[in-house]
Amino acid sequence: MSTLFLVATPIGNLSDFSPRAVDVLNSVDKIACEDTRTSGKLLQHFSIDKPKFSFHLHNEHHKVEHLINLLNAGENIAIISDAGMPGISDPGFLAARAAHQNGHTVTTIPGPDAATTAIAASGLPSDRYMFEGFLPPKKGRQTRMMEIADSEVTTVIYVSPHKLVRFLDRFSQFCEPTRWICIARELTKKFEEVERGQIGEMAERWKKRDSIKGEIVLIIAGKNYSE
Ligand code: SAM
Repeated sequence: MSTLFLVATPIGNLSDFSPRAVDVLNSVDKIACEDTRTSGKLLQHFSIDKPKFSFHLHNEHHKVEHLINLLNAGENIAIISDAGMPGISDPGFLAARAAHQNGHTVTTIPGPDAATTAIAASGLPSDRYMFEGFLPPKKGRQTRMMEIADSEVTTVIYVSPHKLVRFLDRFSQFCEPTRWICIARELTKKFEEVERGQIGEMAERWKKRDSIKGEIVLIIAGKNYSE
């Protein structure tokens, strides 16, 4: 029986990489990387020199077989994504499932992930929340927005920066302008921003920006929340 490690990596600030993550990556036989070039820089920074192979969303189905063969041959493998926790809007789920099904140990080296980092900073209710990740780009997008608008619990969404304003405009059609939201941008990085307010005024404010760059988590409070 071998071990599959899902290792969280920084979402911006390299100091967030845990000593245990470094130890584990130094101990495994191979590292499966979402992008071997991106991870190469991180691994080099921490002087981790291990064989790598690519393991991204587009080859995950095919590469799971390879990964299971390695585990079956007695190798311990780590999965890392470009940033944050593998398996959370990133490759990892299929590998973890297959490793379990083949009788291997699956363990996580916890660390940063954008969703929980954002929700903790938002000051919006975090006792219950729904993680939506990226909404579907076309089919089903509107239905999902309507469900979120109707939700009584906080929702966490990953949004690309160039879609944020359009998203807020569209979502505003399904909720009151007083709905509380938080936009968390560039978390743990130099230009980190955590801004909260009611969707009507937030949409107007963010529309006025020349450009919106960086990585964004959008938090939407439940429909009955007020302060
Ligand atoms: N696995 C990652 C995690 O654990 O958070 C998520 C990967 S997903 C492909 C990338 C999305 O996460 C970005 O589009 C953005 O919505 C969010 N994200 C990642 N890093 C972030 C950061 N530093 N600040 C804000 N959002 C971030």
